[in-house]
Amino acid sequence: MAYSDKIRSIYKGQIQEIVDKGIFKQERYIHSPQAADIEVEFPQGAGLKKVINMCANNYLGLSSHPEVIKAAHEGLDSRGYGMSSVRFICGTQDIHQELERKVTEYLGTEETILFPSCMDANAGVFEAVLDKDDVMISDRLVHASIIDGIRLCSAQHDTFKHSNMEHLESKLQLHADKRLKMVITDGVFSMDGDTAKLDAMVVLCEKYDAMLFVDESHASGFIGKTGRGTHEKCGVLGKIDIITTTFGKALGGASGGCVSGRRELVEMCRQKARPYLFSNTIAPVVVSGVLRVLDILSAGTERRDKLESNTEYWRKGLTDAGFVLKDGDTPIVPVMLFNAKLSQDISRDLYEEGIYAIGFFFPVVPQGQARIRTQISAGHERHHLDKALDAFTKVGKKYDILGKTKQDIIDMYGL
Ligand SMILES: *Cc1c(COP(=O)(O)O)cnc(C)c1O
Repeated sequence: MAYSDKIRSIYKGQIQEIVDKGIFKQERYIHSPQAADIEVEFPQGAGLKKVINMCANNYLGLSSHPEVIKAAHEGLDSRGYGMSSVRFICGTQDIHQELERKVTEYLGTEETILFPSCMDANAGVFEAVLDKDDVMISDRLVHASIIDGIRLCSAQHDTFKHSNMEHLESKLQLHADKRLKMVITDGVFSMDGDTAKLDAMVVLCEKYDAMLFVDESHASGFIGKTGRGTHEKCGVLGKIDIITTTFGKALGGASGGCVSGRRELVEMCRQKARPYLFSNTIAPVVVSGVLRVLDILSAGTERRDKLESNTEYWRKGLTDAGFVLKDGDTPIVPVMLFNAKLSQDISRDLYEEGIYAIGFFFPVVPQGQARIRTQISAGHERHHLDKALDAFTKVGKKYDILGKTKQDIIDMYGL
């Protein structure tokens, strides 16, 4: 017996430590499609409860959109269920190529390559285009999947303070002698909802002859005037060398991701990126769904416009109620609570009021910055937002945190 009692007890001890620290992640089971209204079983065995979802990445409300579901059915019927192959053996259908072309058009780049996920795109891209004579200079708050991709690449690595352009410039000067330099950032940062200064970064990259990499997972489809992303918002369409993004958030929410950008960089990924070469192709049903999502988005901006007005309404409502928010204008709206237990207590009470919103605390966010990260969707109607505002206000009153400053809350609850 290889898995002895001794081995088991080691893992049991480690799991218990996670429980004792209060950071054990408990999943809640949703029994309905992803939408503004969902049916949840929590805790397990408690029966189903109808709640309003305020924490999905379903920014455009397309995850269960009838047209997307219909397109997925059509893809299933015409191209089958699975391809049982990676892309370069026998896993490339006409619709994979069509999706790559449409994403290129949508993002305003030169070429696109699909990956099983954006996690895979980020894991594979750096190693495919950089080597030990090169340097990667990343924002200190980039997504975990970028950190993993950086780890897998033999190029040297340095960081700059979050969104600090002076610090970035000093790092570009420091690494002037490297063969290739790549500056790496998220477009919209997922925990705070703030936006990278892509206009300033493009200027610096041009000045110091560096490439610019942007992960647009929390931006594609809804940031910028026509929703193309942070590069549109910052006025630098066509100037980003590598964009990675996911189809698992606003763009239908199923799965899949891509690297989109300069033709040669994309070709290098096709030849060398390991998650592309060694993991299965995106299922035809998903490809068909994403194609329809892009058609919907290209036909008009109603959904991202509605998301924008919903976001303004929500931010104003919470601000008027007296909550401390992180500044910003994206649909990621963090309600700051600072204390980890307080974030858990408030999340639980909100659930009792019919609102599903999860509390985040260390190590997901920095120590002392616990919060409830709310995320707005074009799938929310005003009655959803009003009900959620009522619930937040009621719970906020219970804990006496309305109209209080950050320091007041910390004085009351500690860090
Ligand atoms: C969600 C996310 C990813 C991962 O996307 P998947 O397609 O789900 O793997 C990568 N980068 C960022 C910034 C994300 O927010």
